[in-house]
Amino acid sequence: MKKITIPEKLPKNITYHSENCERHIFVKNGLEIVKPIQKMMIDGELICPRCELEKKDLELQEAIQREYDELLKRKKYNTFYNWSILSDNTILAAKLENYQVEHQEERENKQTVLESLARFKDGQVFNLILQGNQGAGKSHLAYAALRELNESGLDISCLFVNVESMMRLIRDSFGDKESEYTESYFVELMSEVDYLALDDIGAETGAIGTDKIATDFVQRVLYAITTTRQDKSTFITTNLSSETLLRMYDKKLVSRLFRNPKFVVFKETKDKRMENIPF
Ligand SMILES: [Zn+2]
Repeated sequence: MKKITIPEKLPKNITYHSENCERHIFVKNGLEIVKPIQKMMIDGELICPRCELEKKDLELQEAIQREYDELLKRKKYNTFYNWSILSDNTILAAKLENYQVEHQEERENKQTVLESLARFKDGQVFNLILQGNQGAGKSHLAYAALRELNESGLDISCLFVNVESMMRLIRDSFGDKESEYTESYFVELMSEVDYLALDDIGAETGAIGTDKIATDFVQRVLYAITTTRQDKSTFITTNLSSETLLRMYDKKLVSRLFRNPKFVVFKETKDKRMENIPF
């Protein structure tokens, strides 16, 4: 950039020409001055060409940033639909609207889930524990609640993971170097998402109702996930009682899963999937 030197005898308060840009004039020590930029008359408007260029530059930068932010938001939104691990695809239809409420317990539990959703949207952090009989609709409610959060327009990511299916995928990856479903893949993904559902905890041991203890491998994965999610909300569904869970898993792991909990317990609700069978 060319500079001109102002002779000392000139007064300090100089108004050069009204057609010079007020922004692109720079006085240093009262002596040096960056050559002022003359305004130009373009389409009947008096503008500084440098200012115009900077404005265009800024607009372009902002447009790129907006596009990037939108892309990130889109990627977060798609996490739920692209990366969830389901035990069967029927759950894809699960919505809050189609959760059948026939008895008082189901009504109350659905209400608790709706209230919890309002608290999550309000930014509150806690774990939602859905416990009770097999087939009571816990997974349905958990998936529907996550879907509701995902569709809320908030800049968040949600993920639903059937624990047994995930553990099977990780186990398979041990002998398959090509598999992307590695232990570290899942731990990283499940640590990152804002809302995670761990579906059917306990079923992955394949021994519900017995005293079988979860393997070191399962405990290690669950422990890693819960360690990184201490400031995030996690949904848990399980058929198991706290007593059985404590027998199967490390105490510290169970207490992490149940940290800051909101319990939704099904005691009365029968297996919805068996209701239509007449014997
Ligand atoms: Zn200017």
